[in-house]
Amino acid sequence: MYALKLELKLNNKQRTYLAQCAGYSRFVFNYALAFYNQIDHNDIKGSTSKKLDTIKILFNKSKKKEPELSWCSKYSSRIYQNAFRNLKTAFSRFHSKKAGYPNFKRKRNDCSFTVDSSNGVVLLAEGSKIKIPTLGTFRLKESLKFNCVSQTFTISRKGDKWYVAFAIDAEKIPPIIHEIVEPIGVDLGIKTFAVLSDGTTIESPMPYRKARTKLAKTQSHNRHKQMGNRRLKIPTSNNAKKYFKQLAKKHNRVANVRQDFLQKTTTKLLKKYGHLKIENLNLKGMMSNHKLAGAVTDLGAYEFKRQLIYKAPWYATKINIIDQWFPSSKTCSNCGCLKSDLTLKDRIFNCIDCGISLDRDLNAAINLKNTKDEVIKSRVGSTRTYTPVDRIPPTVLAEAGREHHGQL
Ligand SMILES: [Zn+2]
Repeated sequence: MYALKLELKLNNKQRTYLAQCAGYSRFVFNYALAFYNQIDHNDIKGSTSKKLDTIKILFNKSKKKEPELSWCSKYSSRIYQNAFRNLKTAFSRFHSKKAGYPNFKRKRNDCSFTVDSSNGVVLLAEGSKIKIPTLGTFRLKESLKFNCVSQTFTISRKGDKWYVAFAIDAEKIPPIIHEIVEPIGVDLGIKTFAVLSDGTTIESPMPYRKARTKLAKTQSHNRHKQMGNRRLKIPTSNNAKKYFKQLAKKHNRVANVRQDFLQKTTTKLLKKYGHLKIENLNLKGMMSNHKLAGAVTDLGAYEFKRQLIYKAPWYATKINIIDQWFPSSKTCSNCGCLKSDLTLKDRIFNCIDCGISLDRDLNAAINLKNTKDEVIKSRVGSTRTYTPVDRIPPTVLAEAGREHHGQL
């Protein structure tokens, strides 16, 4: 059994709704606990579980009859069912000396609740959305990578982020088999986006380049337009308003194309290769070189590296970050001699010592591939973020709530 915990991408309405659901769950839990604490246990015999079942029946009756509890019917009945189940689990943990006597839940610490599907497991389709039983469909920050099934879902908040956690069969996580396991150097180029040491080149997307050129042209044509001037009481012209609105739209489009390209490229690389070696980026140095700054930062070398690193554990790919002072461009990948007079203009690396001649970026990528451990600045793990929770049945997992949150 594995537990998956995924971040939800919510709008304000959904945020409010989930917070209300958590509030309802907390209310039911505290109501039942308070009720249980008031029972004269010398007078009424029976197991905790049986007593809680009776309290549940009473609660269900009064929530239908009493006007002050009528708001409860607004929420999924799976919430109160699971709140009772959570309280039962808390008591059984107390009885088996695994935890202290159940505490009342507080708003500050306990913003979570559980729902389940009463008709057995539900299918969760691969993709960027998740359908949670009785609550509806929500967008996910990172999409679900495969189809799977689950029954019980715990929704929780940490800071201002919301998560959904559920258990799935371990077999449902497809094994990751990398096409290429030996180390591969990745050189982020100027002309081509990236060159790999196996000869693969990655071009930056055409629409992106087109959009950028267009954007630069519009900006230069309209360089004198201003959004009025409040101090001088000059109102903004309609033309200027229109222009800045369009400009923002275009900027947005360029950013989207770029983001899409980077997401797809990093995923593709991590799926195919089991071990990547990339250079740590010296952003300051690149920015100080004007020509490089335009080419490299625009295409998001920094964002590329960031995505590779955070996604690497999902695909079990190892990543080595090579020290930025390692002369990957200036070293001959064949004989190892240093060519200190190499300039940015030189697209071909010609070695006078051994006579080899090859693409400048390919030469750098091969050098990155061959780097020794001394120049590796940091390593990114190759373990999955999915945490095995062997032998814990899903219901206990979901209900254990706070204790397990850290590990999910
Ligand atoms: Zn050489």
